[in-house]
Amino acid sequence: MKKIFNITLILLLIYSCKQAEDSSNISAVPNYQAGSCAIGKWSSTPLNIKMSTDFNADFSPADSVGGLNPLEQMAKVWNDAVGSGTKLINVPFPSTDNKTGTSLGGFRDGELGIYKSYGWFDNVSSGALAITQFYGTMASNSSLGTYINLNHADIIFNYRDYSFTTIAGGTWGSYDLSTILLHEMGHFLGLCHESTNNSIMAPYYSGYQRSLKDFDTRKIRGLYLSNQNISSAIGNRNVNALSLPPGTPVKGTVELMANGKCRHFINGKLVFEH
Ligand SMILES: [Zn+2]
Repeated sequence: MKKIFNITLILLLIYSCKQAEDSSNISAVPNYQAGSCAIGKWSSTPLNIKMSTDFNADFSPADSVGGLNPLEQMAKVWNDAVGSGTKLINVPFPSTDNKTGTSLGGFRDGELGIYKSYGWFDNVSSGALAITQFYGTMASNSSLGTYINLNHADIIFNYRDYSFTTIAGGTWGSYDLSTILLHEMGHFLGLCHESTNNSIMAPYYSGYQRSLKDFDTRKIRGLYLSNQNISSAIGNRNVNALSLPPGTPVKGTVELMANGKCRHFINGKLVFEH
């Protein structure tokens, strides 16, 4: 009897954990130390971002809107947000072969790309749904202030540890590929994580969201339209905290976490997290 109880308890805990891991219904976003973020900016747009042909099988013709697949539609969301005739990303995306390999450095080539990783990377958390990696040089000028002048970036999805859906409207308990791409493109364009869940740039996946918040629109306009000091245009980002002289090459990765913690729910109530 005791053994049956133990097995039941273990199954209950596993189930609870898995359910919480899905996280689509968790709206609370933990505090995030945003101070270490460094804002980036591309000196020239629109960007030519290529999409791995491995994504083609994920879309059906019914997913197409205005001739754009669900991932291209997310690039258009950023383009529309910045508006004023400024196009950030070319759509539709040119395609490219998927890249394999367990070294992020191998993705630094002449192509900006969106890829699937089936092996993931040793130095990146298995809790990350996707990452954006970027390369650039520290820049400082009198009008824009200090920022990273971006020269390469890639978005890579973690297909080793997660599966994704492309169904419009979202499915409970699954990760929406387009929502995640919308977030990653924010990084690609130079934005940091935000400590508010009133932003697509919250550091944790918090459910289906294929549009931006006003907050995000203000940020991307501040970054690409204002031509004024970046830190003051888009918030008090402590880019100078990097303390690197202009011209210094920099690289970085930003992870979108599925959920930083395993949470246990009973009847919808959080009872334990670890
Ligand atoms: Zn992120």
